[in-house]
Amino acid sequence: MGTKKKIKIIGGGFAGVKCALTLRRKLKREEADIILYNSENYLVFQPLLAEVVGASISPDPVAVPLRQMLPGVYCRTEDITKIDVNNNYVEYLGAEGQKGQMYYDHVVIACGSSVNLGLIPGMADHAFPLKTVGDAVALRYHVMQQMEKAEICDDADRRRWYLSFVIVGGGFSGVEVAGEINDLVRDTRKFFRNISKEDIKVTLVHSRDQLLPEVTSNLRDFTKVKMEQAGIHVVLNRRVSYVTHEGVGFDDGVSIDGATIVCTVGNATSAVIQKLEAPKQKGRLVTLPDMRVSGHGNVWAIGDCALIINSYDNTPSPPTGQFAERQGRQAAQNIVRVLRDKETKPFRFRPLGQLCAIGGHNAVAEFLGFHISGFVAWFLWRSVYLFKLPSFSHKLKVSFDWAWEIFYSRDLAHPKANLTERISKSHFQPGDYVFNEGDPSNNFYIIESGEVEVVRKTLEDGKEKVLAILGPGDFFGEMALLDNRVRSSAVRARTQLEVTVMGKKVFEQISGALRPFRDFLADAVKRRSGSMWQKLPVVYEILNNQPLSTFINPVDISLDPEDSFETAVSTLSSKELDFCCVIDSGNKIRGIITRTDIFRAVESGASPDMKVSEFMTESPIVATENDSSTIVAATMRDHDLKWIPVVDNLSNLYVQGYIRRDKMINFVLAKFHKHHGSSGGS
Ligand SMILES: Cc1cc2nc3c(=O)[nH]c(=O)nc-3n(C[C@H](O)[C@H](O)[C@H](O)COP(=O)(O)OP(=O)(O)OC[C@H]3O[C@@H](n4cnc5c(N)ncnc54)[C@H](O)[C@@H]3O)c2cc1C
Repeated sequence: MGTKKKIKIIGGGFAGVKCALTLRRKLKREEADIILYNSENYLVFQPLLAEVVGASISPDPVAVPLRQMLPGVYCRTEDITKIDVNNNYVEYLGAEGQKGQMYYDHVVIACGSSVNLGLIPGMADHAFPLKTVGDAVALRYHVMQQMEKAEICDDADRRRWYLSFVIVGGGFSGVEVAGEINDLVRDTRKFFRNISKEDIKVTLVHSRDQLLPEVTSNLRDFTKVKMEQAGIHVVLNRRVSYVTHEGVGFDDGVSIDGATIVCTVGNATSAVIQKLEAPKQKGRLVTLPDMRVSGHGNVWAIGDCALIINSYDNTPSPPTGQFAERQGRQAAQNIVRVLRDKETKPFRFRPLGQLCAIGGHNAVAEFLGFHISGFVAWFLWRSVYLFKLPSFSHKLKVSFDWAWEIFYSRDLAHPKANLTERISKSHFQPGDYVFNEGDPSNNFYIIESGEVEVVRKTLEDGKEKVLAILGPGDFFGEMALLDNRVRSSAVRARTQLEVTVMGKKVFEQISGALRPFRDFLADAVKRRSGSMWQKLPVVYEILNNQPLSTFINPVDISLDPEDSFETAVSTLSSKELDFCCVIDSGNKIRGIITRTDIFRAVESGASPDMKVSEFMTESPIVATENDSSTIVAATMRDHDLKWIPVVDNLSNLYVQGYIRRDKMINFVLAKFHKHHGSSGGS
C-alpha cells in the first residue's frame, strides 16, 4: 500500500462514525491515519432527541463522546470551512478562529444537514428546531416554562395560549416530538392547580394528506387515530405560510395559536457543501453508485448530505440513521478496496424496517416485512434504540431513565440551559399585537422594517384609538421598562414587521453603562410622556374635525426606481423639490429621494447612471387615507417630517398623494385666527 495514507472524515454523526470505526478495524495504524472532524466532541443520537424534550430521558445519554467511541481515530473538534477537491486539502477554523489546512489522500464528506428555518417567514424568529442536544434541552425548558406561566395566569385566554403547542411537519421527528410534548404536558398536569385538560392544545400540522409518508398507509391511519385519541389535533393538507409570536398562519388567513412552535421541516445544506463544485440535488451531493463524488476518485459522500442510489431497489436512500450507518460502513470498505487496488462495490442495503414512537406508549413499526402498532411496537422501538446506543454506559443510563418513568412521574425541574438573556429578532404579521395594554413589561423593541401603531382604549367607549405611528429605526417599550410598570398602551403591527427585541436585563445593562443611550431614552420619554394634544387641545379640536383628504396634494412629479442618478438630480434641482416619491410602474411607492439621499450618494461616489433604487430611502413612513388628521400630524411631529406620502392602504401601497406639514399648520392657524378673531371682536 506504500506510504501511510491520510483519510479525513468530515462529520461525526451516524455515517462518519461508522465509517471511521470500519476503517480503523480494517486498516493497520501504519497503513493509515484516520482523522475525524466534528463541530462538537460528541455524536448526537438524534432519534432520542424527542425523548429529551418530553423529559422521558435526561440529555446526557444522547450525546455520545467521540473520543471514547473511536479509539485509534484522531478526533478533532473543529469546523471544516472548505474542501478543495482539486488540490486535496481541507481548510478548518482553529480554536482561536485562525485558518489551517490539512492534506488528504481520501476525504469522506458526512456532515449531515441542518434545519432551514428561513423557508417560512417568522420561523427563524419564533420556532424551535430539533437537531442538537441544545435544541432539545431549550425546547424542554420552554415547554415547562409555559406550564409554569399558565399556572399563575389569571386570564383564561392567555392561559390557554401558554398551553398551545404547534408542531410543523408530520414526518418521524414531528410525530415523535408531538407525542412526547403531549405526554409530558398531559401526564404532569396533575401537579398543577390551575391547568385543566381542556386548556391544553397540541397541534400537528402536515402538508400532505397522511402523516409519516415513510410507512404503509394502514400504519399512517393508525398513527393519526391514536394521536387524536391522545388529544393531539392533527391538521393535514395545510402548509404553514408564516409564523409569529402568537402562532402559525396559512395562506387563506386562518391561523392556529401557539406559544410554542416546533419546526421539523426544511433541510439546509451545510456551507462546505454549498461551496463545493459538484453535482447536487436539493442540496444533497449526488454520488456515483460506489458513493464517490463524480469526477473525484478520492472524494466520498455519505449520510444525510449525500444522494445515494441504493442498488438493492434502485431508489434514492432516505435520510435516516439506518442508511447513514450502512453507507458509512460500505464507503469505508470501498476505500479499503481502492487502497488495495480492488474494484469498488455499489451501495446496496435491504432496509430492515421503520420504527416511530407516536406518544402514549404507542409506536408504529414495519420490521422485516411485519407491520406492528401499539404497545408491542413501542416496546420494540425502545428495545431497538437501546440496542443501538453505542456504549454500555449509555444503554444503562437510558434504561435507568426509562425504568424510572414507569414507576415515577416525569421530572418537572427545568434548569436553564445557557439561556442568558440576549438580543433577538421577532416577526409580526399586519394586525398582530407586539404587546397589549396591561401586559408586563419585559422587552424593549427597535423597528428594523415595517410600521407599528401605538393604540390605547378610550375610557368613553373602550374603542382603540391610535396614538402614534412608528417606523424603521424607531423604538418602543422603554417607558414601561424604565418605570417598572405594566404597558399603558398596546403596540400593533401595521405592516409586515421585523423588530429587534432586547430583554429587560440587557436593556438595563446597556442603558446603565452607556450614558448617551440613557440621555437619548430620557429625551424620548420626555417627548412621549403625555399626549401632545393635552398641551394643544384647540389644535386637536380643529384637526379632529377635519378629514385627511383636506390636506392631500396630488403627486405631480415622481421618479421611477430604474431612473438614473442624473435624472434624480435634475428633477429635484429644476423643480426645486425637497423630496420626490419613487413610484414603480404599478403605482406602488418604493421609496423616497431627498436632497440628503443625493448628497449621501455623491459622498459614496455615485456614478451618473446609478439607479434611483440603489440610493433611495426604502420603506418610508406613510399615511393611509383612513388615518385621522390628528394621528398624521402627531406622526409628522414625532419623526420631524416635513411631508408624508399617503397610500390607498398598507397592503397595496398605491400612492394617493402626499401631505405637507406646512399645509396643516397653515390650516390650523387660519382656523385659530378665525376663532380668536371672532371671539376678540365680541
Ligand atoms: C429529531 C430527529 C429524529 C430522528 N429520528 C430518526 C429515527 O427514528 N430513525 C432514523 O433512522 N433516523 C432518524 N432521524 C434521522 C437521523 O438522525 C439522520 O438521518 C442521521 O443522523 C444522519 O446521519 P449523518 O451522519 O448523515 O448526519 P448527522 O448525524 O447530522 O451528523 C453530521 C455531523 O457533522 C457535523 N458537521 C457538519 N458540518 C461540519 C463541518 N463543516 N465541520 C465539522 N463537522 C461538521 C455535525 O456537527 C454533525 O455532528 C432523526 C433525526 C432527527 C433530527
